[in-house]
Amino acid sequence: MGAPKHLLEIDGVSMLERVVRALRDSRAGRITVVLRIGDDPGRVLAEALGVPWALAAEPQRGRAASVRAGVEAAEGGAAGLLFALADQPYLLPSDFDSLIDAFASDPRGIVRATYAGEPGSPVLFARRFFAELLSLEPGQGGRVVAARHSESVRNVPLDPHRGRDLDRPEDLSDRSPTTGSAACSGSRDGYSPPSMERTLAIIKPDAVRASQTGAILEAIEASGLRLIALRMLRLSRREAEGFYTVHRAKPFFDSLVDFMTSGPVVVGCLEGEGAIAAYRELMGATDPAQAAEGTLRKRFATNIEQNACHGSDAPETAAVEIRYFFRDLDLVERD
Ligand code: GDP
Repeated sequence: MGAPKHLLEIDGVSMLERVVRALRDSRAGRITVVLRIGDDPGRVLAEALGVPWALAAEPQRGRAASVRAGVEAAEGGAAGLLFALADQPYLLPSDFDSLIDAFASDPRGIVRATYAGEPGSPVLFARRFFAELLSLEPGQGGRVVAARHSESVRNVPLDPHRGRDLDRPEDLSDRSPTTGSAACSGSRDGYSPPSMERTLAIIKPDAVRASQTGAILEAIEASGLRLIALRMLRLSRREAEGFYTVHRAKPFFDSLVDFMTSGPVVVGCLEGEGAIAAYRELMGATDPAQAAEGTLRKRFATNIEQNACHGSDAPETAAVEIRYFFRDLDLVERD
């Protein structure tokens, strides 16, 4: 976990504490903090949090030493081991639970988080891989074991904004709205469990034309998000330009407006815990070529522009976008 990087604070809460708290609020079982030798402040923090800690002996073995300490600390009966990094302080308990749920459906495999199609952390290993994890070469991490057993790896797409790691101290002060999604900004201002949110969803003209409205709504509902308003309309040029005004200077702006006005769209307001990030995760990356398996854009999008769906990216934009299409009276209360 490096020098004291994991003790750097985001709004008064250290990165390590954020990750421990998120794990505690997840369905993970026993948590152990793996520390480098000499990391007394890390040890003091782990003890203050009431979390067991283990030392990564043989520091010259680098990551292999941390992995070994984690495996050795695992409970005898543990079915699997999830490696979480202190430099991913924005992951939510629900992110860890997504991995744990995937693992529960195949408790002999490896479950790996992916971000916009790219493999990342955390990774969860079934017990049968523990021996291999213990015998990594110096400098190697669990990733090597996952690569060797690609047939056993199940990928779980998580929101890239929440999964981004903080490698440089200056990342901590990076609060530009373009680098954070809604759930991320929620968790940046002091870690808190996902709050009830609303987000705007648009089924774009390509998907409506291809009769995919029903399948997309079904996926939305199956994800647990609740529809609290829904309508079909055809955007005028002025309305489409107004909606995408932040992209006015982009080279693809005119083409985007042509596309968005080319046929009817279905616009909905969704509600749920952490709805903004949850829906973006369900949609997948903007470019379907980058979108993870099973996401709406992977399933239904044609290309980076005709990408089937839209979802708000932050609470502030969600509020504006919902108001763009719905009056307060249109938003119903669901039980
Ligand atoms: P989103 O939040 O994932 O929808 O992505 P953005 O806010 O960055 O872009 C808004 C929309 O513009 C996307 O959903 C696409 O329809 C379109 N778009 C984004 N990037 C490109 C691009 O590079 N080329 C084209 N033609 N369209 C793009």
